[in-house]
Amino acid sequence: MMKNTKYVFVTGGVTSSLGKGIIAASLAKLLQERGYSVTIQKLDPYINIDPGTLNPYEHGECYVTEDGAETDLDLGHYERFLNIPTSQANNVTTGRIYQSVIEKERKGEFLGKTVQVIPHITDEIKHRIQILGNTGDFDIVITEIGGTVGDIESLPYVESVRQLLWELGHENAIVIHLTLVPYLAAAGELKTKPTQHSVKMLMQSGVSPDILVCRTEHEISDSIKNKLALFCNVRKEDVIQSIDAETIYDVPNFMLEEGLDTVVLKKLQLPNDKQPELKLWNDFLKRFKNPKNTVEIGLIGKYVELHDAYKSISEAFIHAGAQNEVKVNINWIHSEALTVENVPELLQNLNGVLVAPGFGERGIEGKIEAVKFARENNIPFFGICLGMQMAVIEFSRNVLGLTGANSTEMNSNTLYPVIDLMEEQKNITEYGGTMRLGAWDCVLKEGSKVRNIYHKEHISERHRHRYEFNNDFLEQVEKAGMIATGKNPKTNLVEVIEIPKHPWFVGVQYHPEYKSTVLNPHPLFVDFVKATLNHALNLPTNH
Ligand code: GLN
Repeated sequence: MMKNTKYVFVTGGVTSSLGKGIIAASLAKLLQERGYSVTIQKLDPYINIDPGTLNPYEHGECYVTEDGAETDLDLGHYERFLNIPTSQANNVTTGRIYQSVIEKERKGEFLGKTVQVIPHITDEIKHRIQILGNTGDFDIVITEIGGTVGDIESLPYVESVRQLLWELGHENAIVIHLTLVPYLAAAGELKTKPTQHSVKMLMQSGVSPDILVCRTEHEISDSIKNKLALFCNVRKEDVIQSIDAETIYDVPNFMLEEGLDTVVLKKLQLPNDKQPELKLWNDFLKRFKNPKNTVEIGLIGKYVELHDAYKSISEAFIHAGAQNEVKVNINWIHSEALTVENVPELLQNLNGVLVAPGFGERGIEGKIEAVKFARENNIPFFGICLGMQMAVIEFSRNVLGLTGANSTEMNSNTLYPVIDLMEEQKNITEYGGTMRLGAWDCVLKEGSKVRNIYHKEHISERHRHRYEFNNDFLEQVEKAGMIATGKNPKTNLVEVIEIPKHPWFVGVQYHPEYKSTVLNPHPLFVDFVKATLNHALNLPTNH
């Protein structure tokens, strides 16, 4: 049955980085656990078509959906909280909006009209907002507007929200404004003025917030709530405190206590007859907060200064750690800082080594040294995408003796191109959206470690790469003890390698981290953490 979809817009004021994505995901979680079908969308005001071509230092990790969209990392939070997949329609950038409008203009679809921000760009934004609602699959669509109210580049989005509020009617569309209530230590006070100003700014664009969610380091008193209500045209119960949390996974409970879901349902005129069912969520939190052991895992990457560059991996470790009731201590290790000389000292106290995904030459020799150390010293090793490719290169150089073996991404003249460009990539010249992306099937070999871990023969995982294991070397590599235990059934591309003689040595060409959620921790991460725990406790790992 077609649903009458309701819309919740989330805007941000005062500063960026207040965690709109986490508030949106937490609200969605509460509504989902009350039985509503909910999805979340992110509108990003930058001009890139998608974040696929962005350096991770800019906005952190590029998240990949099942349908192969390269998206903002907030979509990862949406999936981890809601445990349902997102798609291309869940992330739209200004670049993509303009691209479609300009394509239409070139086709003459505007019939000679002057193409303008209002109505043409705003119409396209409104269309993109309603695509998810129009599928009929969702009771509620939450749309997070990236950036901060008042930014020049956010204006067309706020204007589109203004138009939609009128078109859809107030019982069908509301605005949550997320702001900061800073604490001034010198005055010993929480200050409401920045919020008042940001609400004024929003009102200048014709949008009045229905609910204020206030980020704060200290409890917001009733008198502050009253003051905010008075100045910002909301009722006291519409002022929701969002106090700093120990973990982002506490936020749904905090929002429940503050009644965010209740006021949202009331404003949308939806039944509020069932409390959210958070038992499984809270079981996870309990395990996460009461670990019985600690493991030390080295995350070797070249963007480690910015932890957001590896967001899905670090979150997958949280899910897998809770599952094993252990605290995973991530040791962030810069691959460029690793040398033959310092690897033993830097890695010897680790219980596991994860070599991260990446692109280009910078830092790869350090990654290769890290693989070697883990392989030779029986330290559990997990290689993801580039990390898997580094494991193949290390094995080829140091076990097969193929001196200078490399990926043609790093050295196109290598004598031993053990990692090479995929056939279908050879004639591609553009960078944006042209990698092997999204979900691909993989068949796991009987008796392999991965087959036992997944308990399945057929799996599907998400990809984002151009290079692959070069099958010309497969026979030699396998003879020497590194086995391709997962392959694409159609193309024979190697998806998984492992070393059966090693306690836990697995490399995957895909990105398992994208599919790990709170309620469905990824089996490879769970098993890897288990292996690191065995290492920490000096127990054998067996499969
Ligand atoms: N740079 C490698 C490739 O394109 C690995 C990509 C990745 O780690 N995501 O194949």
